[in-house]
Amino acid sequence: MDLQLPAMPSYSKTLTRRRIPRVMIIGAGVIGMTCALQLLERGYRVTVVAKEFASPVLNAQRLTSEIAGALWEWPPAVCGRHADEDSLERAKVWCMDSYAKFVEMAMSAEETGVFVKQSVFYFRDRVEDIPFQLDKMNELSHLPGFQHDDGLIEQTAVNSACGIVDAYQHMAPMIDTAVFMQWLYKQCRKKGCRFVHDDIHGLLRDQAEELKIKYKSQLIVNCSGLSAKELAGDEDVYPSRGVILKVRNDGSLMPKLTHSMCISAINDKPHDSKQIDEDFVYILPRNDDKLWLGGLVQPNQWDRDLTLSYPPIRTMFDKVKEFYPPLRNYGDEDVEEVLVGLRPARKGDICLEWDPVSPSVLHNYGHGGSGVTFSWGCASEVCAMVDHALKRHKLIYVSRL
Ligand SMILES: Cc1cc2nc3c(=O)[nH]c(=O)nc-3n(C[C@H](O)[C@H](O)[C@H](O)COP(=O)(O)OP(=O)(O)OC[C@H]3O[C@@H](n4cnc5c(N)ncnc54)[C@H](O)[C@@H]3O)c2cc1C
Repeated sequence: MDLQLPAMPSYSKTLTRRRIPRVMIIGAGVIGMTCALQLLERGYRVTVVAKEFASPVLNAQRLTSEIAGALWEWPPAVCGRHADEDSLERAKVWCMDSYAKFVEMAMSAEETGVFVKQSVFYFRDRVEDIPFQLDKMNELSHLPGFQHDDGLIEQTAVNSACGIVDAYQHMAPMIDTAVFMQWLYKQCRKKGCRFVHDDIHGLLRDQAEELKIKYKSQLIVNCSGLSAKELAGDEDVYPSRGVILKVRNDGSLMPKLTHSMCISAINDKPHDSKQIDEDFVYILPRNDDKLWLGGLVQPNQWDRDLTLSYPPIRTMFDKVKEFYPPLRNYGDEDVEEVLVGLRPARKGDICLEWDPVSPSVLHNYGHGGSGVTFSWGCASEVCAMVDHALKRHKLIYVSRL
């Protein structure tokens, strides 16, 4: 299925192939690959350079983008935060842009790995800012049970002792990341994308000219996730460790769950807090008869070599069961896999801007716990910025080829 993109100048119609601008993307996670596909759709030539690519092989070392719970969430997401109102507004635009794309992709769900399912978001505070744009689409209902009494708690079998005071539900895209990442890869390949393994070190601004010559590109888009700490020299980038426990959802231990549930993280925790947040939990049904049980928000923790015996994971498992009591039927032996991922977080906000020193490097990193949610929206903005930059410097890029 081809994504419908807004009408843009078609470089392929006006320039010979040799003169079509080439963009180099660093990173093959969801951020890099969605940018690659949108740029290819607009007629650019694209090279994706990464030290690791998503693997079709089960049990291979996974990218963060493959470990993502990959539920679309309205900002601030359940484990997210924003520096100010402007950044929150910008995030909402990306979010809605992605929503539209994901809903379209869900029309070919088996192929793309994108499904749209009922999702319930629970909060320990009253929620003022509900996804109003979804409301307009008649897809949101603010759950009255939490506004007035405990009606919803009875409906969903969620334990009222978890301190929940508010909730909303809507149809949300949920992405089977293994299928989605392979779909992105195939779409890009079909459109002529070049993929290169390379492990880049050092500041991009110091080597931009060298890289552009090596990869015959006019511009570099930095989608390197956590590595932006080094490549962009950005000390605000830090890992936010998360964990997912994979269990079966085939109806054998409890009635099969078809909708997702999340309890929001406590939002006033400082970025550099060492305190472990086990209160943030989510339950996500995937499409292969599996449930992904998650959470943990552990800032500045790099080690991914954890097991079920790690006390915070054990506590998280208990919290999930406490929140949704039918899960008490699951024991340790039912946990098929423990997935540990490092969300590429950034103090303040996502960095989607031109490098202040090197004007041919565009940064797109720091998506924290919402990279899948923001992916298509950020990719659209990257395309617009690339279009604008190349149009402005038309003579330069043509003469360099
Ligand atoms: C447990 C967990 C649950 C999550 N749940 C959700 C969710 O429900 N919804 C949601 O929207 N998001 C969720 N996220 C967040 C989401 O996974 C991330 O925001 C997203 O994957 C970030 O994508 P990325 O492409 O920036 O990074 P990555 O997936 O890490 O990709 C980075 C790419 O850059 C490459 N790279 C890195 N360094 C170099 C280098 N030096 N040279 C060359 N290439 C390099 C890597 O090889 C890789 O290809 C979750 C994350 C975790 C860990």
